[in-house]
Amino acid sequence: MGGGIGGLAAAALLGRAGHRVTLLEGADYLGGKSRRIELDGQRMDTGPSLVTFPGVWDELLGRWDALGDGDASAAEVAGLKLRRMDEVGKYYFRGEVVALPVPEEHPWRGAWERFAGLHGGLGPEVTRLLTADPLDRQTLPALGRLLRTYGPRLTTRSYLDGLEWLPDGLREVIAIHALNAGVSPSRTPALYASMPAIMAHDGVWTPEGGVYEVVLALERLARHAGVEVRTGESAYGIWEGKVVTRSREYEADAVVSGLDDGRLEGLLAPGKRQTPGKLSCSGVAVYAALREELPAGVPTHGVVLPSNPEGLYRSLEAGEEPEETMAFANYYRPGEVYPNDRATLALLLTAPANGREYGLEDSFVQREVERVSREIGLDKPATAYFGEYKILHPRYFGEWGSMGGALYGEVRPFWRSGPLHRPRYNDRRRPWLWRVGASVHPGGGIPAVLGGAMISTGRLLQHLGK
Ligand SMILES: Cc1cc2nc3c(=O)[nH]c(=O)nc-3n(C[C@H](O)[C@H](O)[C@H](O)COP(=O)(O)OP(=O)(O)OC[C@H]3O[C@@H](n4cnc5c(N)ncnc54)[C@H](O)[C@@H]3O)c2cc1C
Repeated sequence: MGGGIGGLAAAALLGRAGHRVTLLEGADYLGGKSRRIELDGQRMDTGPSLVTFPGVWDELLGRWDALGDGDASAAEVAGLKLRRMDEVGKYYFRGEVVALPVPEEHPWRGAWERFAGLHGGLGPEVTRLLTADPLDRQTLPALGRLLRTYGPRLTTRSYLDGLEWLPDGLREVIAIHALNAGVSPSRTPALYASMPAIMAHDGVWTPEGGVYEVVLALERLARHAGVEVRTGESAYGIWEGKVVTRSREYEADAVVSGLDDGRLEGLLAPGKRQTPGKLSCSGVAVYAALREELPAGVPTHGVVLPSNPEGLYRSLEAGEEPEETMAFANYYRPGEVYPNDRATLALLLTAPANGREYGLEDSFVQREVERVSREIGLDKPATAYFGEYKILHPRYFGEWGSMGGALYGEVRPFWRSGPLHRPRYNDRRRPWLWRVGASVHPGGGIPAVLGGAMISTGRLLQHLGK
């Protein structure tokens, strides 16, 4: 159930192992949070824009190959071409502008080199923890190296605060990456502090053609493996051995859910009112085809921080709109990433998971679009460049996802976010029910979702084999 990146990856692997797999996707398109739209005839992929930890994708291809009979190679079937971006991004914080990796001439260079020296090489360890079963003893060396790096300071916040030699600005630029998990640095494990250094060392990547190519590649792997893909078929009830949609009942030996956990609970106990706890953040995402190119010097990936990050974390905790938020500005010139003849701009504003619909006229959106435009060097609001545009908001993200549009569901204790915890792949009370997707490995984006799908289906295959 669920044709997002997690559900598709699981279906592709189970099908390749010789099982008869039906994938049910409620929406009329595959990809879930990753989607492709067209504005003024220009391609724009909504949702994720970057692929990190490319070794996870390679591992998925290797597993698909190993499960089959060698009739085709996963790399050829998938046909995904990842391209490394020149830099992780350009960061704007309290008047300071800095690229990651921090360039030679910047005053933070020395501290960055020291930090990158400690963390930049941890990519293979994190990739291992993302893709290997936590019960596999072979993960112990990777786990050991990570734990030795952080010592007793267990959260991103406490770890970074302990590095007194970090300039405050650089500390906040590093800490804000915790929001990729939808929560503040005091709610993520110290591991999140390493992310920007690993991303700078191992690269951030975009598939040629846009990130939706990942969804298309997974769909090709699934279909090649014989998976029956059914869009527009929403599951509304699950019992042992049965998934019920509006039009049919499906018999199943095992059910794999790629749905948000809260949504799954609703299907397991229809009619029972769900009362969620604290929610991770949502977003307001503005996508626009531009009438003219932005001035030279506007970066491909800009990250604009709030001047008071603590204030943002507090507002998100309280479920309130922040005074200033963290924003990504992804600007692709004609022919860059997408095969477009015009430039496109995506502005992603971190927002509380309040389930609301937003438009350009909302004061929060207007205020932040103007601030981001100023910071990235525009002399007028980005909206002045807009041709056709589309806004996605917490209500949109909540439609098929978590309550309130929370991108990573409910907030969990810091030790249950990221690859260091023991996720609930299988339901002990319901041995036929398996989980994949962002709810299993919250806060890691595409690599965690793919890794979780590999681990969960690995266990399910063993279970079915018995
Ligand atoms: C704005 C934004 C930016 C992001 N940026 C990045 C990034 O740059 N890099 C990165 O790695 N990650 C990024 N992410 C995170 C990444 O997109 C997600 O982690 C990933 O796509 C989640 O995949 P999933 O399969 O777990 O969930 P989903 O994509 O939510 O898939 C769940 C699927 O289940 C379907 N479904 C729900 N209910 C039912 C039902 N009853 N029956 C059948 N189907 C159902 C839904 O329609 C959906 O297709 C971003 C996310 C967003 C929203």
